[in-house]
Amino acid sequence: MLPELIDSHCHLDVADFAEDREAVLSRARDAGVRHIVVPAIERETWGELQNICRDSPMLHPAYGLHPMFLDRHRDDDLSALDARLMAGDAIAIGECGLDHFVEEIADPAGRDRQQQLFEAQLELARKHDLPVIIHARRAVEDVIHSLRRLNGLRGVVHSYPGSLEQAKQLQKLDFLLGFGGPVTYPRARRLREMVATIPADQLLLESDAPDQPDVDWRGQRNEPARLTTVLAVIAKLRDCEATELAEQTTANARRLFNLPD
Ligand SMILES: [Zn+2]
Repeated sequence: MLPELIDSHCHLDVADFAEDREAVLSRARDAGVRHIVVPAIERETWGELQNICRDSPMLHPAYGLHPMFLDRHRDDDLSALDARLMAGDAIAIGECGLDHFVEEIADPAGRDRQQQLFEAQLELARKHDLPVIIHARRAVEDVIHSLRRLNGLRGVVHSYPGSLEQAKQLQKLDFLLGFGGPVTYPRARRLREMVATIPADQLLLESDAPDQPDVDWRGQRNEPARLTTVLAVIAKLRDCEATELAEQTTANARRLFNLPD
């Protein structure tokens, strides 16, 4: 029997999946994927994301304002987010966070704006008692700083780009780490060494589809069924059984997002 998997980060609502979303979901199911967390990007997509998740018991929405789409966010998006969270279908807030890699938004003004939107979403997570899905490109230190300042939060740093030391700090702050396609590339040595050593109860699997395909799927649209490849690679790096890793990461995701059986 296939081990049960949870894709903790998949943009299944985007246009890349408009034509064949059902087929993608069916392949995911066949690969053992039981639940998929679908984080939002911007306010305009929240309604459609809600509809898509309502149609499938596998899909669970998170609502938020992604830092990379900074120019699309308005101040009143935050009050709209607050109102949307009242509806009760969100399993998390996200995708939110900080991106100091993309040049257009990494100047001082861009950074300030990112910080403001990020911390406002952290406040909402506290208010609604929801976990947070965080994007932290070149910004793990600043994310940790915000989490310390606001404290009492829980969540995941997705596609974890930080160090082992930062991973320890994040564990103390009740944050898990998501890993996906990038760990399958043999040249990602630092990342692979890290995923081999971080505590099992801090690990989540993610596809980040349609982005970040694994090494065998390079250049193609990623999809949640590919999670089995990520699972196999991480199990090998950690020198454990794939079923054992599946059980642990599924239990971690279930606990964090309070997912049904
Ligand atoms: Zn994402």
